[in-house]
Amino acid sequence: MNGLASDPVDTPAPHDEDQIEAGRLLFARPCRFFFAAQKLDQLPPTAGPEIALAGRSNVGKSSLLNALTGQAALARVSNTPGRTRQLNFFDLDGRLTLVDMPGYGYAQASKTLKADWQGLMFDFLRGRPTLRRVLLLIDARIETKAIDQAAMDLLDGAAVPFQIVLTKCDAVKPGPLAAKQAEAAALARAHPAGHPRVIATSSETGAGIPELRAELAALASPGEE
Ligand code: GDP
Repeated sequence: MNGLASDPVDTPAPHDEDQIEAGRLLFARPCRFFFAAQKLDQLPPTAGPEIALAGRSNVGKSSLLNALTGQAALARVSNTPGRTRQLNFFDLDGRLTLVDMPGYGYAQASKTLKADWQGLMFDFLRGRPTLRRVLLLIDARIETKAIDQAAMDLLDGAAVPFQIVLTKCDAVKPGPLAAKQAEAAALARAHPAGHPRVIATSSETGAGIPELRAELAALASPGEE
């Protein structure tokens, strides 16, 4: 985890300047909410590459979406507690579609992921050919929950690659944050669908946002220029 040459599972190299710049340029483009789906047969037609954001309720998903796009009120539409569970689609200028999934595990420890993600969510994950990756958000301040691990298992089962993104990292001291990152990387490695790179972010300070943009730029369609 410390990047030693002898480490058999090396940490992925940091993003280089070109990748960071590609991410910056991509997310400088306008992003707009264009679709909400409550049923599988209501999904917008597949077009370009899609990525989805998922995580427990209150993990900081709306804040991250707003920080990524630099649009403060973008994700407000998906942030009303108790709102009908739906998938919200955002178009990043024809290059990438961002899909905001409903938070799971809201306020009920006993609630299973299956109950939250049954039907539409699982069918979407399993059957969406344009879905390139799920960003699985985990709150850096708290212990990783069983329901997050269940989400990883489900993504394995749906054969959808996922990448762990730690949120609220501003609220964690460097030592515990490094430990949390190591723990998340180990979790990702233990899952066939897990991406080895874990991105630590803060929507408050902007930490990790350029890196996450760079990561997503590599999945976006290149466009005309
Ligand atoms: P969602 O339910 O996953 O969409 O979460 P929200 O984006 O609404 O955030 C839930 C709570 O976490 C709010 O009180 C936010 O202010 C707080 N929050 C979100 N992102 C951050 C962050 O980067 N740092 C800190 N310290 N708090 C955050």
